[in-house]
Amino acid sequence: MEYNCSEIVLNQQKFFATGRTKNVHFRKTVLKKLLKEVQKRENDICDALYADFKKPKFEAVMTETGIIISELRLTIRKLTSWAKAKRVFPSILNFPSKDRIHSEPYGTTLIISPWNYPYQLAIAPLIGAVAAGNTVVLKPSEVTPNTSAILAEIISEVFDENHVTAVQGGVPVSEKLLAERWDYIFFTGSVHVGKIVAKAAAPNLTPVTLELGGKNPCIVDIHSDFKLAAKRIVWGKFLNAGQTCIAPDYLIVQAQAKFDFTKALNEEIKAAFGENPQESSDFARIVSKKHFDRLASMIKADEVLIGGETDEDDLYIAPTILDEPALDSEAMKDEIFGPILPIQVYNSLEDISNMIANYEKPLALYVFSNDDKFANRMITSHSFGGGAINDTVMHFGNHRLPFGGVGESGIGAYHGKHSFDTFSHKKSVIKKANWLDIPLRYAPYKGKMKLLKFFLKYF
Ligand code: NAD
Repeated sequence: MEYNCSEIVLNQQKFFATGRTKNVHFRKTVLKKLLKEVQKRENDICDALYADFKKPKFEAVMTETGIIISELRLTIRKLTSWAKAKRVFPSILNFPSKDRIHSEPYGTTLIISPWNYPYQLAIAPLIGAVAAGNTVVLKPSEVTPNTSAILAEIISEVFDENHVTAVQGGVPVSEKLLAERWDYIFFTGSVHVGKIVAKAAAPNLTPVTLELGGKNPCIVDIHSDFKLAAKRIVWGKFLNAGQTCIAPDYLIVQAQAKFDFTKALNEEIKAAFGENPQESSDFARIVSKKHFDRLASMIKADEVLIGGETDEDDLYIAPTILDEPALDSEAMKDEIFGPILPIQVYNSLEDISNMIANYEKPLALYVFSNDDKFANRMITSHSFGGGAINDTVMHFGNHRLPFGGVGESGIGAYHGKHSFDTFSHKKSVIKKANWLDIPLRYAPYKGKMKLLKFFLKYF
């Protein structure tokens, strides 16, 4: 389908200019309509996710539809209070005044989303954008066409197209959209494309949120509960067949623990997916031939500790553990983004820091240890988007925690109220009273310095 992107943007600008989206009641009404529609279409969404890459239904509900329903309920419940101007204490220099922070929508926003959680990662930012009173053009991923089609249907059913619309297509469509002038761009995807988005935003100084990826380390020390650690790592890594931006990318295991921990991983993989994971209905497939080829090339037979099987016709790659691949190997160069987990080892804290320092700041970091001092040291001495001690991925599930990267893994954060804040400009306004006008700040300044310094102390 040919889109006239300039016309879409112009129509949305006109819609925004009517002021309808500034009305909180209007926002809540459309979000309620969206909630009804996504509840009604939940099975269709799960079917589409299965058609796209055999995402197991349980995972689809847990990580896609369920999260969105909860996020919508929360936003509808809290929106009136989030949207209210917040009174803050005035500065003594300003006395007497009433000081407030107003949350103002940016205007016309663009959301570009990826394929790995193609429903959730498209709708979650959209909820924040609509809640904050913006219009939205959503460009879902072309790699998961079934889910993107459902997304477009839901959006056209719920929203006036001049308020929110979905524009389907691949890179050329995305490029056309990025050539337009937006008031905010929210992008989720790879670091490489994130840089393209940042460049496109720069000429107009358009603010951006970039939710990107990275190589997420997962540290396991000898003072950890191996069975439980292995269970949580296997779950977080092989969920969605490893195609998760916050999945552990590689393990850094204390050298003496490597043998026993590998055994524990093997047992937990079998417990989750049986002797042959290809026959398990709980294990997704790789999204495309391109990604299958990329991942298959990382598996070197002499490095395979567990798994390693592939089936091109089924786009299947077994849960695979690799034994200390070299740093310049395919598996250790970039983000893996599939069901392959290399084990590296450490003997000293320096080994851990040196390993992590090979890469840009990751989106997530995990540490498994019963030694609190060690775990806290790992958390405080490395910079990363977010993470967990003694778990993987689950920090994503708390809407009170802002979700986002740092450095190359991203700019900005969202979820729950943080999404509303991300899509709102915080406008600070003071309302000065006229009944008193302290003369201190006005010229002539002679003889006022002492008093000024006194007031500044209580600023
Ligand atoms: P991608 O960057 O290839 O594509 C993301 C979106 O950008 C798609 O809609 C695509 O059509 C568009 N796009 C692709 N190339 C483009 C170009 N040259 N110009 C303009 N637009 C372009 O990412 P992907 O393969 O869909 O997703 C995987 C990546 O996303 C991984 O790196 C992963 O870590 C990251 N990711 C991050 C998060 C997060 O929340 N931080 C979540 C999911 C995925």
